[in-house]
Amino acid sequence: MKDSKYIYLDNAATTPMDPKVIEEVIKHFNETYGNSSSLHSAGQKAGQTLLKSREIIASLINAHRDDIFFTSSGTEADNIAIFGVASKNKERGNHIITTTVEHHAVENPYKQLEKKGFEVTFLPVDQFGLINLNDLNNAIKDKTILISIMFANNEIGTIEPVKEIGAIAKKNDVIFHTDAVQAFGKVPIDVIDMNIDLLSASAHKLYGPKGVGMLYIRGKGARKGWGKYIEPIMFGGGHEREMRPSTVNVPGIAGFAKAVELAKEELEKEAARQTKLRNKIIKWVIDNIEDSFLNGHPTQRLPNNVNLGFKYIEGESIVLDLDMEGIATSTGSACSSQSLEPSHVLTAIGLKPEEAHGSLRVTLGRFTTEKEVDYFLEKLPGVIDRLRKMSPLKKGVKYMFDKSSDTEHHH
Ligand SMILES: *Cc1c(COP(=O)(O)O)cnc(C)c1O
Repeated sequence: MKDSKYIYLDNAATTPMDPKVIEEVIKHFNETYGNSSSLHSAGQKAGQTLLKSREIIASLINAHRDDIFFTSSGTEADNIAIFGVASKNKERGNHIITTTVEHHAVENPYKQLEKKGFEVTFLPVDQFGLINLNDLNNAIKDKTILISIMFANNEIGTIEPVKEIGAIAKKNDVIFHTDAVQAFGKVPIDVIDMNIDLLSASAHKLYGPKGVGMLYIRGKGARKGWGKYIEPIMFGGGHEREMRPSTVNVPGIAGFAKAVELAKEELEKEAARQTKLRNKIIKWVIDNIEDSFLNGHPTQRLPNNVNLGFKYIEGESIVLDLDMEGIATSTGSACSSQSLEPSHVLTAIGLKPEEAHGSLRVTLGRFTTEKEVDYFLEKLPGVIDRLRKMSPLKKGVKYMFDKSSDTEHHH
């Protein structure tokens, strides 16, 4: 699949590994095989690699190295944060505040907690995907123990007002968790300045290996400093100071650290370069393709995220047709995501089902060139045109999947 002509514009789903990261991981697979908990030299070597990796990763977000806890994924980091805080604080209160646009790795743990007697407020968002800070203020009660709001949205790229949210959390003495998987390494993050207590990140969204993530837990670096407001949800050996037992994936983590090092070096330059390409795509499509629109915020969005809506057709078909042209993209349309409902994010920003069904997410990366973007823009109008010609959903025709219609959705 990955030949030189294949154009990969789905970097929000996962990224290809940077060759320098692959080199680093292979080196450590060969050399750093010890268990970081072992007393012998091989173990100590693994321990040294872990320590160095922790330092590098912590420095990206102005954290203390001892506040970085490695996990097997972003999903696992989210689950530890959510269930760990809920479990530790259930005497204090059972109310949690989150949003309607979270990733499933946050949304579904909260649905589980609801079943277990927790009260979860899902804050709505505006047409751009932004929460309202007054809503947040008003939602806080005496028994609120946790605010969990994503840093940047994985579908529409909207960046939430994290610093303001952190200030509100601090003022009300509520723990603040942010799922920063999409933002980490792409926009500046400062956990101290932004009053973030817990932050989830994942290596594979950042040109690192899959199956490696981390949870930042503000504890001023003290051993078990986190014990005040979060407790483990897995029990086993003593790895990661008992917060996440299981033999540590040292080569993967060394690759994560390498990925962070590269991201840090290139953050400003890449953000500027990708923002330019992003804006080029948005402007070109809106100017040149009839009945198209932008989803998400025009400016307060990730540098690499484009999410467009095309009326009268389905995102799933656009993705498949673009793939035949050798271009990888994604959609929040129902059928591709194995459920019949359109994306909860697109619904939350107020799109009608027929508008949400025609969404196309294009996410750029470090390896995306302007030439590739131009090729995509060259191929897109033909794809849209062809699909619209075949579509029964033309202007003035009642949508097949309109809930008010008698006709069933054709899938
Ligand atoms: C990808 C993603 C996750 C899940 O991370 P994994 O490492 O794949 O488990 C969580 N949150 C957001 C916002 C994501 O984009």
